[in-house]
Amino acid sequence: MTTAAYDTDVLVVGGGPVGLAAAIEARLAGYDVVVVEPRQVPVDKACGEGLMPGAVRALERLGVRPDGHPLAGIRYLDPTRRVTHVFRGRAGLGVRRTTLHAALAERAGDLGIERRDARVTTLEQDADAVTAAGVRARWLLGCDGLHSTVRRLARLEAPARGPRRYGTRRHFRVEPWADVVEVHWGDRAEAYVTPVAAHLVGVALLGPPRTDFTSTLAAFPALAARLAGAEPDGPVRGAGPLLQRTSRRTRGRVRLVGDASGYVDALTGEGLRVGFAQAAAAVATLRDDPDRYERAWSASTRDYRYLTSGLVTAATSPARRGIVPLATRVPALFGTIVERLAT
Ligand SMILES: Cc1cc2nc3c(=O)[nH]c(=O)nc-3n(C[C@H](O)[C@H](O)[C@H](O)COP(=O)(O)OP(=O)(O)OC[C@H]3O[C@@H](n4cnc5c(N)ncnc54)[C@H](O)[C@@H]3O)c2cc1C
Repeated sequence: MTTAAYDTDVLVVGGGPVGLAAAIEARLAGYDVVVVEPRQVPVDKACGEGLMPGAVRALERLGVRPDGHPLAGIRYLDPTRRVTHVFRGRAGLGVRRTTLHAALAERAGDLGIERRDARVTTLEQDADAVTAAGVRARWLLGCDGLHSTVRRLARLEAPARGPRRYGTRRHFRVEPWADVVEVHWGDRAEAYVTPVAAHLVGVALLGPPRTDFTSTLAAFPALAARLAGAEPDGPVRGAGPLLQRTSRRTRGRVRLVGDASGYVDALTGEGLRVGFAQAAAAVATLRDDPDRYERAWSASTRDYRYLTSGLVTAATSPARRGIVPLATRVPALFGTIVERLAT
């Protein structure tokens, strides 16, 4: 589809999971695609690694089927209570981040998507084209994550007002003891336990600044007992602050997709499902007025923005202590919220 005036139709900046999904999406729609990413496959990152049912469905549509551990639902726990919601439709999947990234990269390679080893530091655009990392394209998809350079260069950032929360994650070699994502609620932090393989679980901790992994984990005695003697697998990785806002998602030929387009919190484990939905919407609306993508972006993120923001507000207030008791008392409400977010 590319003519001589362009190096490619679509330039994807950032070859993380959402960037690769967007690249595959664009290739399957018939566009020439170049992905610019400075890090080698497979890229690792702090993540809870729970693919909600909607994310698994989106990957299947793109022809990507990573190995993982089935997830039947979500469980909330505090020291005295627990409540489990089993997904009403298909299951989710716990997938180690590097496994997910390798599967996406393999599919992108099979489709002949070109990858350039570079970091974008400048961006120029006019009415006809957009250029970054020496690649001149019809459109640019900024998929460069939480601290997006494209977002800054395109002047799409907005002040983030709200609680500053951070996440850390580590894997442990131990037989998974549940086929759900367990969310252990502590006084100040949550611990997310996701089975990702037959002998491996990931533990992600979310909380205020300086949430140290080892000391925070020790504050969850039941979880610490499960992990006692289990060997860590790989380093502790961190990310944050999680809250990132944008004024818009489009400027001229630039579209922001995934975490680059704004992020609320990892509390509901929605980043990948929402990012894959945004990638589909961005590609489907490339030729249209940018406002079509703005509207599609709003529609695909609405539940996540409102429900996750509401839960973060409660989680960072004195109401925090009432979250698990309420979910236990009204499991139908808990289940409805999980379904809205996961599918
Ligand atoms: C602790 C934690 C737990 C989470 N748990 C879950 C969960 O259980 N389920 C879920 O669905 N989501 C979860 N998330 C969210 C999920 O990890 C993100 O939504 C997801 O990684 C977003 O993918 P992305 O491709 O947009 O960004 P990223 O994964 O950050 O990828 C961005 C890519 O862009 C590249 N890049 C950066 N700058 C440049 C540049 N200037 N030029 C070129 N390339 C660049 C980077 O190298 C990187 O590869 C969690 C997040 C955290 C922090």
